[in-house]
Amino acid sequence: MSQSVSEWIQRDAELLWHPYSSLTDPSPVRLVRGADGVRLQLDDGAGGTVEAIDAMASWWCMIHGYRNPVLDAALKRQVDEFSHVMFGGLTHEPAVRLGERLVEITPDPLRHVFFCDSGSVSVEVAIKLALQYQVARGNHGRTRMLTVRGGYHGDTFAPMSVCDPVNGMHSLFTGALKEQVFGPQPPAGFDRPADDPELQSWADELAVLAERHAGEIAGIIVEPVLQGAGGMYPYSPACLRVLRELADRHGFLLIFDEIATGFGRTGTLFASEHAGVDPDILCVGKALTGGYLTLAAMLCTTDVAHTVSNGPGGALMHGPTFMANPLACTVALASIDLLLSQDWASRVAALSAGLSSGLAPARELPGVKDVRVLGAVGVVQLGGPVDLPRLTEAALGRGVWVRPFRDLVYTMPPYVCTDEDIAAIGAAITGAVEEAG
Ligand code: PLP
Repeated sequence: MSQSVSEWIQRDAELLWHPYSSLTDPSPVRLVRGADGVRLQLDDGAGGTVEAIDAMASWWCMIHGYRNPVLDAALKRQVDEFSHVMFGGLTHEPAVRLGERLVEITPDPLRHVFFCDSGSVSVEVAIKLALQYQVARGNHGRTRMLTVRGGYHGDTFAPMSVCDPVNGMHSLFTGALKEQVFGPQPPAGFDRPADDPELQSWADELAVLAERHAGEIAGIIVEPVLQGAGGMYPYSPACLRVLRELADRHGFLLIFDEIATGFGRTGTLFASEHAGVDPDILCVGKALTGGYLTLAAMLCTTDVAHTVSNGPGGALMHGPTFMANPLACTVALASIDLLLSQDWASRVAALSAGLSSGLAPARELPGVKDVRVLGAVGVVQLGGPVDLPRLTEAALGRGVWVRPFRDLVYTMPPYVCTDEDIAAIGAAITGAVEEAG
């Protein structure tokens, strides 16, 4: 701690990539000195710290807040047992218990679990499994995925190929990516009924595409009900029923990427529950460990697992070194138990109501195109790109940490935020947009 803050930041800037960053034109970073509850303690550059409510929950993860005593204790207990063992040829109680719990709380037909270390890898494995499933069924030409415009599924190669190809962040790599089949973006609006004309024409367009490419498609992949990093658009649960029907009609597997929406974020434990639609494959991550450690999982049905296991090769050829890390599994189990031991649905509903009223005044601001809230996610969309450093600074000046991207200032706060914290987040985002938007 002898170095001044500017030295740490300078050493960081010359050395370390941050997410989606340039080393020669870095955007400002701030030094974290601590984190407790829903607050980050940031170095103020003058020998002290300033506190800011983490309105991002560290990118959807930190649902129970920082230094949660229950999660801390669970992790410490497991550290005293063993921190890591390979998962090839070995197993352990935390993995089995967490696998059982995930099967219990996710949609019914999902019965088998593959643990991995990030959301992107769980999507890789889901796509790999879908391709292998089709090979096992003799459908050798089915090597493409059907997805919709506006999606985001991660930063490794298979997930990049199903991200929005034009407005997504990976368009630079288009030539190196598997060419997937892209349908239109689901019409925005969670409350749109199934017989809404725009929704119907979306479904018709998708049906034509599915029919045309049926012999090439292994599966459909989407983020149910809320497209996240592709633009933060909620859409109608009725769209998921359309996708399920298409998948059944053509023998595609239906993959739901609930890495962002899982564990209550949209108001139901998993977003697919809004539609009562079960996927064949599900990806979860982010809030799985309450934000403590990096862990994700892919779940699938017995039909998928057994078809692949009895097919050519038999094995699913994936096996990360840190698969089912015992520390991560232990803290994930503690996080799920903690979530389910509370009336989390009422809490998320209260956060949703607080964000709706807190962000409502932003609608009136010049330069604001839209304000939308779904579950514990609030979004202010501007008419053009956000001035990231100015807006972040303006929010920090109001005691709140946000990390806007493109034209979006958004929040997905920890569930343990109080009503006052939520009001502060709403006021800070509105004030910052007014000052710097
Ligand atoms: N899928 C969705 C819907 C996501 O929101 C993300 C991350 O933001 C990912 C996949 C990738 O997860 P990870 O960053 O853990 O690789």
